[in-house]
Amino acid sequence: MKERAINKALSRRRARIDEAKREAENKLAAALLIPEISIAHSQYVDKKFNSILNGKNTEGVTAAHKAYLSALAKHGISESDFEYTPLCSNCKDTGSVNGKACDCVWSEYIDCLKEQCNILVKAPFTFADCDSALIIDETQRSSVEKLYKYMEAYSDKLPDVNYKNIVLSGSVGTGKTCLASAVARAAVERGKSCKFMSAYEFNSEMLACHTSPISERTERLHDLLTADLLVIDDLGTEPILKNVTIEYLLLTLEERLNAGLCTIITTNLDEGRIMSRYFERIYSRLSDKRHSRFFNLNGKDLRLA
Ligand SMILES: [Zn+2]
Repeated sequence: MKERAINKALSRRRARIDEAKREAENKLAAALLIPEISIAHSQYVDKKFNSILNGKNTEGVTAAHKAYLSALAKHGISESDFEYTPLCSNCKDTGSVNGKACDCVWSEYIDCLKEQCNILVKAPFTFADCDSALIIDETQRSSVEKLYKYMEAYSDKLPDVNYKNIVLSGSVGTGKTCLASAVARAAVERGKSCKFMSAYEFNSEMLACHTSPISERTERLHDLLTADLLVIDDLGTEPILKNVTIEYLLLTLEERLNAGLCTIITTNLDEGRIMSRYFERIYSRLSDKRHSRFFNLNGKDLRLA
């Protein structure tokens, strides 16, 4: 995902620079259609060429240049109109400053990454939207606010975090989807790749993968298994499909954990119901305290200490 975004960003940038250069060339071509300018230009170019050929400053180059400039001026044109002005004043379109990628390259990359992750559509909420104001209980509010801070720091560091799996459990209206969306948005803003999908979409994609030729499966699973962050929203609302739902969820969790990547799951289910719906192997991965954290947003104490 990130590699595709980088390549796209570089090619978009190149296209824009080429376009700016073409525009400058077109201005010169248009000016040369004016006979007076064309004659002055060709006389100037001839003198300059001879001067270079002879290796010395042939007399008349400066005069020819002046004549050319005054021909341009008569038509309201200056020589600098034909020069291509770099689009980025920081790197002069070289793409780097002091050996580091320029901000212009970085922001193009982030734009491409956002498109590739479809993050503005999939994850419409940011941390600014995560509002604890509606929580009346003071203890719970302070707990939830701590969780927001924790998840904000998490989005900054991922996937280099201790807890690769985060489960946000809570009933409707507890803000778990909003929080997961905010983490995903922030992560992409920081250049991390992200796949955000509902449990229903995940299930459907896994079914499509399962019923596709084996040769296509790796490609189909690629983004899901390699994104820095995968969010599966509303686990438990999808139908359980035999040989698909549980098997592919387990495969995804295992592969991603082995690769050191982060997965956030939001769900209405509590730990007991996760165990009864997805069985021991999935439950043990999500409840393994070495890699996973389980936050119950219904509770007053989220145990963030
Ligand atoms: Zn730049």
